[in-house]
Amino acid sequence: MAEQKRDYYEVLGVDKNADDAAIKKAYRVLAKKYHPDMNPGDKEAEQKFKEASEAYAVLSDPEKRRQYDQYGHAAFDGGAGGAGGFDFNGADFGDIFGDIFGDIFGGGRSRGARNNGPMKGANIRTSVHITFEEAVFGCKKEIDLTVKETCKTCNGSGAKPGTSPETCSKCGGKGQVVFTQQSFFGTVRNVQTCPDCQGTGKVIREKCPDCRGTGYIPMKKRYAVDIPAGIDNGQSTRMPGLGEPGVNGGPRGDVLVEVIVGRHPIFQRQEFDIFSTVPISFAVAALGGEVLIDTVDGKVVYDVKAGTQTDTKIRLRGKGVPSWRNKDVRGDHYVTLVVETPDKLKPEAKELLKQFDALTGDSLNAVKNATEAGENGSKEKDSKDGKKKKFWK
Ligand SMILES: [Zn+2]
Ligand SMILES: [Zn+2]
Repeated sequence: MAEQKRDYYEVLGVDKNADDAAIKKAYRVLAKKYHPDMNPGDKEAEQKFKEASEAYAVLSDPEKRRQYDQYGHAAFDGGAGGAGGFDFNGADFGDIFGDIFGDIFGGGRSRGARNNGPMKGANIRTSVHITFEEAVFGCKKEIDLTVKETCKTCNGSGAKPGTSPETCSKCGGKGQVVFTQQSFFGTVRNVQTCPDCQGTGKVIREKCPDCRGTGYIPMKKRYAVDIPAGIDNGQSTRMPGLGEPGVNGGPRGDVLVEVIVGRHPIFQRQEFDIFSTVPISFAVAALGGEVLIDTVDGKVVYDVKAGTQTDTKIRLRGKGVPSWRNKDVRGDHYVTLVVETPDKLKPEAKELLKQFDALTGDSLNAVKNATEAGENGSKEKDSKDGKKKKFWK
C-alpha cells in the first residue's frame, strides 16, 4: 500500500464546510509559499506545492469535491495518474489555476486573458468639489473629461484608409494562444493573450495616420453631472455609458464622479444627521427665551426652557440631510446649547451679579473669601490667557 495520503481539507487547512472562496484563499497562500519558482531546488516545498495543488484541483471542482466527500481518496484511484494519484495530465491548469497564478505572479495567465469577444469599456473616475449645502440638497456641476472617440478617418479599425486589418496568423483571430508546458507535475496548458495582436485577433499592417492605429481619438468633453441630494463626502455618482469605448462592439464604460465636500463653518454631518453648537446667554439659560438657530433650511426660532444647563442637546426633527435612498426621509439636526459665561461686564452688571449671588446663597462650592483658604492650602487662579496656573505655598 502506498503511503498514507493526507486529507485534502487538512492539506489546505480549511473546514469541511469551507466555501469556494475560503478554499481558494487557503490555496493561494500555500501556492505562494511553496511555489517552485519561489523555492528553487527545495524538494520539500515542491512536495508541499504538489500536495496543495492536488487538494485544490479536487476541492475547487464541485463534482470532484462531491466524489471526494463521498469516497475519499479512493474516488480517484486507478486514474490515469498512475500511483493512485489525481490525474494531473487531464486537468486544465489554465482554467483551474490560471487566475491564482495570475494574481501571484502578475502574469498573463489569468482567467481574464483577453479574447476578441465584445467587452465593456473602462470606467473613467473623476472628482468634483462641492459645498456642504450642495451635498445636502443636490446640485448640477460641469466636468471636463478627455474621452476616446472612434476615429472618423478609419471608422475605428485603426487601419490606413484603403487597407483593412488582417486576421492574426498567430492566434487565427481568436485573440488567445494556448501553450503547453512540461512541468514537474505533468503537462500544463496555459491560455495567454496573443502577443502578436494583444487579444484583438487582428493585425494592422498599415496604421491609420490620424489615430496611429488605435482606432480612437482623445476628445475633450464637457458633461453636466446631476449630483443627487444627500450624497456624502467620498461617495460617487455614476453616469452610465459615458466612459471609454467598448472593445469589439462592447458598450462604453461609465463615468464615476466622486464628490469632495467642503467643510462647513457651523455644521457637521454624520450620515444623514447634522450637528451644530449654539451659544446662549446665561440669562436665557436661566430665565428661558427664544433663540435663533441656523439650519440648512434657514434660521428657526427655538424656545429655550428656563433652567437649561450648558451642553443640553436638542433635536430639530427633519432638519437633517435628505436620504438619497428615499427622498421623503430626512435626518435630524442635533443642536448642543452652550451657556456662555460673560467676560466683559459693565460695572452695573457686575454689581447686579453680586446681588444675584448674594440672593442665591451659599451655592456651588464657592469660597466666599479668599483668606478662608487654609494657610497651607493651594489656590488655582485663571491667568489672563485663560490657562490655569497653580500657585503652591
Ligand atoms: Zn484612425
Ligand atoms: Zn493574435
